[in-house]
Amino acid sequence: MTRQRQLIYGIVTAAPEHRTAEEIYDLARAQMPSLARGTVYRNLGLLVQEGLIRKLEMPDAPARYDREPRSHPHLICQRCGRVEDLAASEQLLASIRAELPVPITGYDLKLYHICPACRGGGKDGIA
Ligand SMILES: [Zn+2]
Ligand SMILES: [Zn+2]
Repeated sequence: MTRQRQLIYGIVTAAPEHRTAEEIYDLARAQMPSLARGTVYRNLGLLVQEGLIRKLEMPDAPARYDREPRSHPHLICQRCGRVEDLAASEQLLASIRAELPVPITGYDLKLYHICPACRGGGKDGIA
């Protein structure tokens, strides 16, 4: 792994946050000011290809990068875009698997809400 890739991989895996490429770029540049934006994007792509991290495509928003490459459900705030991991709902998956003739190879499960911080005691955001 190049030094650049190691730095980028370190940023993605250091925290449970699911950061966008721009956020990762900002953090990486703080440590390696010469780093180009294109290098960050290219290395993120390579890390995803190698299966070391996971790319989460977001509707109407930039993709986010996840340190956990295995399939797991996500809880996403529709207002601020905050992404949290949900404990794998094995029960749910087991019941889906039981219905299918062949094993699933992966999944992408997103649940949406308005997070407590965005809700902030307001009255809107009732799903
Ligand atoms: Zn929020
Ligand atoms: Zn995740």
